[in-house]
Amino acid sequence: TKPKSSALGRVWSRWMSVPLWLQIVIGMVLGIIVGVIFGEQATCLKPLGTLFVNAIKMLIVPLVFCSLIVGVTSMQDTGKMGRIGFKSFGFYLFTTAIAISIGLLVGYVLQPGAGLGLTLAEGATQTAKAVPSLVDTLVDIVPTNPIAAMASGQILQVIVFAIALGIALVLIGEHGKPAIKVFESLAEAMYKLADMVMKLAPYGVFGLMAWVAGEYGIDMLWPLIKVIIAVYLGCIIHVLGFYSFLLRGFAKLSPLQFFKGISNAMLVAFTTSSSAGTLPASMKCASENLGVHKKISSFVLPLGTTINMDGTALYQGVTVLFVAQAFGIDLTVVDYLTIILTATLASIGTAGVPGAGLVMLTLVLTTVGLPLEGVALIAGIDRILDMVRTVVNVSGDLVATTVIAKSEDELDMAHYNADTEQSAVL
Ligand code: ASP
Repeated sequence: TKPKSSALGRVWSRWMSVPLWLQIVIGMVLGIIVGVIFGEQATCLKPLGTLFVNAIKMLIVPLVFCSLIVGVTSMQDTGKMGRIGFKSFGFYLFTTAIAISIGLLVGYVLQPGAGLGLTLAEGATQTAKAVPSLVDTLVDIVPTNPIAAMASGQILQVIVFAIALGIALVLIGEHGKPAIKVFESLAEAMYKLADMVMKLAPYGVFGLMAWVAGEYGIDMLWPLIKVIIAVYLGCIIHVLGFYSFLLRGFAKLSPLQFFKGISNAMLVAFTTSSSAGTLPASMKCASENLGVHKKISSFVLPLGTTINMDGTALYQGVTVLFVAQAFGIDLTVVDYLTIILTATLASIGTAGVPGAGLVMLTLVLTTVGLPLEGVALIAGIDRILDMVRTVVNVSGDLVATTVIAKSEDELDMAHYNADTEQSAVL
């Protein structure tokens, strides 16, 4: 059996050298094939998917808690740059809220999940949620007991506590530093753990796709294609419509010059799916092509990379609606507001690395009580969505930087309006 095992070993090491996103796509395609061929019988593969979903669930509370604290405390330096820090933060929250609203709108109009008619197996149908009033929801987001909130997975409450704790840690200055270090290290560890869990994604996606395709046949493909169309459409509207409006309306700047100037960063973002990885390219575009003074870009851009994720928020709007539609769950007005609030806050805690948005999607789904199985449906197409949402994330940071630079008189207008030939090479 020796040659056999080494042949197996070779196949395995070939497989391990395939990039993760491609493994996931392969998992999805194989899952669909198995599901279509074996029909009902393939549903026995579902536990593979459940295992993956459970592993993601395991991450949510500690990941959100630690990474939000790090996100908030990364604004430490705002002390010396109070006004700019305040402006950036406000700008980022505002654009993120608009992004998610556009996502919800597109998802509502295009109805990507309509008619899929998925049901939760093992009788775990979501009990019809009692509709809490808006006032109750708002009052409830402040936890009376943060530990209880964590234990029972009350994400909004955990978010509120994390932000409050982060602010307090910054306010106590030197005394806060050791604790911040601990949270930074824990957040790193949680990202690593998320990485490890994502390595299971190809198998989880395989299992869940086999289950869905086994139960619903090939018909489930079209809704996924519609999700892709909806996310791309939303992103185009947000970037070309809303950002152009901001540039022109607020800062009297030519959007065309802007997009020419940042095209390099957009390209890097699209291909790497990582806004953190794109930061050097964004820095270069901001100062060399747009004429933003380094004083501004060196502060506003890294901050944006950490806390500002318009593309991710927009994607969450579309995909949350997709999941609700796919499982035939009606959302209330309070649910919509909760989604906007959670996704906006979640974007502060999303790391600028590939696939981070997918993990954060679980958070938003949990908050409104939607089934996490939806995550696995999205996981198969996530890379395609990740590419475009990262472009939006990066563009949003650059819009903020440019508009804020203009308002601070730190934008070299002659440079901005000059023809940017120099952007050819990174
Ligand atoms: N990949 C995205 C980014 O780096 C984050 C996400 O997964 O949404 O900006």
